[in-house]
Parts: sequence; structure tokens; C-alpha cells
Amino acid sequence: MYHRAFIGIGSNLGNRLKHYRKALEHIAGLPHTRIVKQSSLYESEPLGEAKNWYLNGVIEIETNLNPEQLLRQLQKIELEMGRKRTPETKRWSSRKIDLDILLFDNQAIDSRHLKVPHPEMHNRRFVLLPLAELAPHLTHPRFGVTIAELLAGLKDSKRVVLLPPQH
Ligand code: ATP
Ligand code: CA
Ligand code: CA
Repeated sequence: MYHRAFIGIGSNLGNRLKHYRKALEHIAGLPHTRIVKQSSLYESEPLGEAKNWYLNGVIEIETNLNPEQLLRQLQKIELEMGRKRTPETKRWSSRKIDLDILLFDNQAIDSRHLKVPHPEMHNRRFVLLPLAELAPHLTHPRFGVTIAELLAGLKDSKRVVLLPPQH
């Protein structure tokens, strides 16, 4: 059975656009998976101690992978693309690529390794802005309000800037 999922993509190291595009290629190459829609690209102020601004966007995919398989595949892509996961790399540290599952059908998952909807998505402008381009009327499975409504009520002072289309 095919599922609809939304993936948040971020890069804040090196050639961010190149990393972003490479990640899209990898995702498009996953078994029984296709990219249905892509948001515009945004630049966003980093969280935590990282200094470099992020390139961010969201894609919608159709896949017959289950949520755990999708997470594993995304983590494999992160590693293949040279993301370092060493003991000293903290959460929110700079990285070439970060791939988060934001939504998976209308499922709510709360396992040790996977939480869906992504537990911070409703607090993040850099997620809600691109997601609202693709699915403003989609209802958040836990809060029962739409993405557009979450965005309208959002308190997030971090700056997010829409980039012109990239060629
Ligand atoms: P944040 O989760 O706040 O965006 P981060 O993306 O920097 O922070 P990571 O270091 O990339 O965090 O991931 C930490 C762990 O989060 C992963 O090992 C993964 O098991 C877990 N995780 C839980 N839910 C999800 C999800 N929906 N998508 C991706 N990873 C998830
Ligand atoms: Ca993340
Ligand atoms: Ca992540």
C-alpha cells in the first residue's frame, strides 16, 4: 500500500544547495518511492550553537516503505552523504544534510527511535512555511488543526527567508 509522507530537509555546511539536491536524488532513488512535490527553498537562522544559516525545504513523497524503513533509509542517505555522527556531535550541530520525517499518512508514532509527527514541527517556522506551501489544509494528527492554522498561531522568532527559484 502506498503512503504519503512529508520530509523536512536541511543543510548548513559546505555547498548547501548541492547537498540538498543530492539528497533529493537519493530519496527519488529509494525503492517504491517517488517525490510528488517540492517546496521552495528557504534560508533559516540556526538553532543551538551552530553558526551557519540553513538551507531548508520540505518534500512530499509517495512510498510503500513503512515509517521505520523510511527512517532507516533516510539515515543511510545522511551517512552516505558524509554526515558525521560521533559522540561529540551534538543535537542541532552543523551538518551537510538532515532528513526528518515530519508526517506519515495521518499516523501518530511514538517509539524510541521514531516520533511522528515530528515532535518539534509545530514550533518551527522553517518547517511550517515550506510545508504550508504543499499542504496548508492537512490536519496535524495530534493537534487536529491544519498546517496553515499552526503557522498562523506560531511564535518562533528565528528568521526564515524565502529564496528565489534556483536554476
Ligand atoms: P530535531 O529532531 O530537533 O530536528 P536533529 O534533527 O538535529 O534534531 P538528529 O540528531 O538528526 O536530531 O536525530 C536524532 C534522532 O531522532 C535520530 O537518531 C532518530 O532516531 C530520532 N527521530 C525521532 N523521530 C524522528 C523523525 N520523525 N524523523 C527523523 N528522526 C527522528
Ligand atoms: Ca532536524
Ligand atoms: Ca534529524
